[in-house]
Amino acid sequence: MGLIVQKYGGTSVADADKIRTVARRVAQQVPGHQMVVVVSAMGRTTDGLIGLASQITPDPEPRELDMLLATGEQVAIALLAMALQSVGLKARSFTGPQAGLRTDTAHTRARITRIAADRVRQALDAGEIAVVAGFQGVSGEEEVTTLGRGGSDLTAVALAAALKADVCEIYTDVDGVYTADPNIVPEARKLDRITYDEMLEMASLGAKVLQSRSVEFAKKYGVPVHVRSTFKPDPGTLVTREERGMEEVVVTGVTHDRSQAKISILRVPDRPGIAAQVFGAIAENTIVVDMIVQNISRDGYTDMSFTVPRGDFQRGVAALRDVAAKVGAQGVVHDERVAKVSIVGVGMRSHSGVASRMFGALAREGINIQMISTSEIAISCVIDDKYAELAVRALHDTFELGRAREA
Ligand code: ADP
Ligand code: ASP
Ligand code: MG
Repeated sequence: MGLIVQKYGGTSVADADKIRTVARRVAQQVPGHQMVVVVSAMGRTTDGLIGLASQITPDPEPRELDMLLATGEQVAIALLAMALQSVGLKARSFTGPQAGLRTDTAHTRARITRIAADRVRQALDAGEIAVVAGFQGVSGEEEVTTLGRGGSDLTAVALAAALKADVCEIYTDVDGVYTADPNIVPEARKLDRITYDEMLEMASLGAKVLQSRSVEFAKKYGVPVHVRSTFKPDPGTLVTREERGMEEVVVTGVTHDRSQAKISILRVPDRPGIAAQVFGAIAENTIVVDMIVQNISRDGYTDMSFTVPRGDFQRGVAALRDVAAKVGAQGVVHDERVAKVSIVGVGMRSHSGVASRMFGALAREGINIQMISTSEIAISCVIDDKYAELAVRALHDTFELGRAREA
């Protein structure tokens, strides 16, 4: 008998009717399979809870925030278990801690350390559907933790790996992974397959259809992931290992990320140790820096710019002002209205001229590039936020992603 792990995202369980739809969808697969169903909080519950916390304090203690956020998924599992039972199926709900999801102590972004899935296995052996709360776990100190936004994807992939499931199906409000966000680019095309590496880059560069850490985990443990629609029966996108022929496509997808901000430190003395001091101060504040650009030196001074998550922006600016004063820099400037647009494809490894085509496409739209970074299979540009959607559409067009793949 096969084992399937399914995950349903927030929009798929947004109200009672949708929860009943999910129950019927689960029921279709029950004959011949053991089933683990991971669920997110209903609709935009998590955003609502974060908003509520911010009405109490601008800086909630991470432990309490996790305690609050974990309630969202607990509501959803109980309701889905009831819905499954009411269509005549045996089902039992489990919180993340009950499902044995052990994590480290990093509240709001905990990492999974181990899965002790005994209770889930027992439920499966008893012929029950195990309904597991996504996004949450328990630390070694017996505290409730959460796995970062979009973390239910990670719960599903990790359970699939631990239980050696045949497949991990991610059900969502789009019917697969597209060449660009289909809500922004109407001509975007659904991909039948995408490699783990491409999906990882796309997820890290802003395509929120899968959480990036879940893709990392899937790649590490070779979990086959199938992204598909809750509301349509069609096959979706398979995230798999690279196969022959996949490199023939130069660019697989275009992504954008509007969750960053840019900070620059101006006229810093250009001498050894300064970059270490500047970024040391940022790291001390546990801020994760993404892109970094340093200008060429003039008269012994240089400018440095970098991007940070928008949520860490104020703290980043404050930390940088302190360092600027210490090292004798001229000052700090910042811009919250930036976006990062990226193209991704394993074919970039073996094709040349991709960057110049990208820059040309942005230039034709009159979009100025503020920063550039590259990896083996991706190129990203930071631009003015107001051009983000225009840039995505222009790049999608330039690389002819709307057409059939073999064209
Ligand atoms: P869920 O609540 O099911 O976890 P998410 O909102 O996290 O769903 O992810 C699905 C959304 O991801 C889609 O509605 C879509 O707008 C967005 N998205 C961004 N980039 C892509 C892409 N390349 N392909 C498909 N969806 C994408
Ligand atoms: N409910 C959580 C969030 O909104 C986890 C998830 O949906 O994957 O981020
Ligand atoms: Mg999601």
